[in-house]
Amino acid sequence: DIDWTVEETARRRNTYYAASQRKFVPFKDPLVFRKGSMQYLWDAEGKKYTDLLGMNVCISVGHSHPTVVNAAMAQAQELTHCTTMFYHPVPAHFAEELAATMPQGEEWVVHFTNSGSEAIDLAMVMARTYTGNLDLLALRTAYHGPTSAAQSLTGIAGFRHPGMPGNVAFVAEPNQYRGIFGPGTEPYLDEIERTIASATTGRVAGIFVESVQGYGGIVEMPRGYMSGAAERVRAAGGLYIADEVQSGFGRTGDNMWGFEADGVVPDIVVMAKGIGNGFPLGAVVAKKAIGDVMAEKFMFHTYGANPTSCAAGRAVLQVIREEKTQENARQVGGALLARLKDLQQKHASIGDVRGRGLMLAIEMVKDRRTREPDAGVTAAVFENCRAQGLILSKSGPHRSVLRMVPPMCLSMADVEVVAEGIDRAFTEVTA
Ligand code: PMP
Repeated sequence: DIDWTVEETARRRNTYYAASQRKFVPFKDPLVFRKGSMQYLWDAEGKKYTDLLGMNVCISVGHSHPTVVNAAMAQAQELTHCTTMFYHPVPAHFAEELAATMPQGEEWVVHFTNSGSEAIDLAMVMARTYTGNLDLLALRTAYHGPTSAAQSLTGIAGFRHPGMPGNVAFVAEPNQYRGIFGPGTEPYLDEIERTIASATTGRVAGIFVESVQGYGGIVEMPRGYMSGAAERVRAAGGLYIADEVQSGFGRTGDNMWGFEADGVVPDIVVMAKGIGNGFPLGAVVAKKAIGDVMAEKFMFHTYGANPTSCAAGRAVLQVIREEKTQENARQVGGALLARLKDLQQKHASIGDVRGRGLMLAIEMVKDRRTREPDAGVTAAVFENCRAQGLILSKSGPHRSVLRMVPPMCLSMADVEVVAEGIDRAFTEVTA
């Protein structure tokens, strides 16, 4: 009895969804998706799309990947839910497996949540409780989630509502293309030091850093930034917290976790999205002494560690191992990056091409010399690509970035289709 038409779905949404859930529709003409398989989606009329957005990075190993779906279904049929008040081995196994992906030489403990922002929120409480300090640092173009606490860490103006909690000081993102201190690492680290001195009590609870910023427009942390930030913050009594919600699970190709690119060992790692390949799941993985700080007071997530999502999560790790997903992200991402760099030579409005593995972006400018962002061309290319069957994402604080974070099973053949499609879009849009 489901009506699959765009018109009826729009009517129901417009009548019964709150504006907060109704309004954020990226395309001029909305889409109803009916089916997904690996890196492809089909709309209700049967048109096929290559999904370069991975339903917003949730889809790590492929839409409706049979190994993941079967694992979740089998668990749901046996016992859908069991809270952490009782013992269940599936989440316990999964915690062991996640801890094993963390840097050696530390003991790691896991607290499962349902979502990324819940995990961010928990990491904030953990850092403040462990250090006894209140002030946190975050980057200006960071996005850490929609809960009040996560919003308080989120710098991009359009993502913040009035009345969020305080005690967060913002520092400039070390954007190598358009950061306020230009390219390089040191000026951005100096700003962390200055900000701790001028905008905090001098003692901080920690800094939150996305190893590669997602909504900020695929902003990679330059060499030395993550380790340097950790050093500055630890000197002020704080922790280094890596947000791996978008950059984790092998997406950057070279490593399982984005922070590994810089050799930093975080105190807390926050993960979500790709962890469940679409099943609701998040996790905080912390050094044992930090993760164990919550022992005295109640901290219970009803759906945290739920066996159905954790069965999906275990299957994701299994697929990453068996299908060499991270290596695929490295190779296919490298090939796509090279093709996008070719397009930059050809199309003057592409100011920058960047990223690593299958976390890539092109940024559009009105003039390469002034680097003035071009949201208009970005939107037009985005719509043109959609008409060709390519789903991209508009990102960045100026909406001038096309972000590509596809399911990591993207193939070399897809790279050609994607590059040709984007090429055609620029040719048609800027003709
Ligand atoms: N951190 C980052 C880097 C994210 O991209 C997101 C979600 N887009 C979150 C945290 C919040 O995750 P969720 O939407 O699952 O609450």
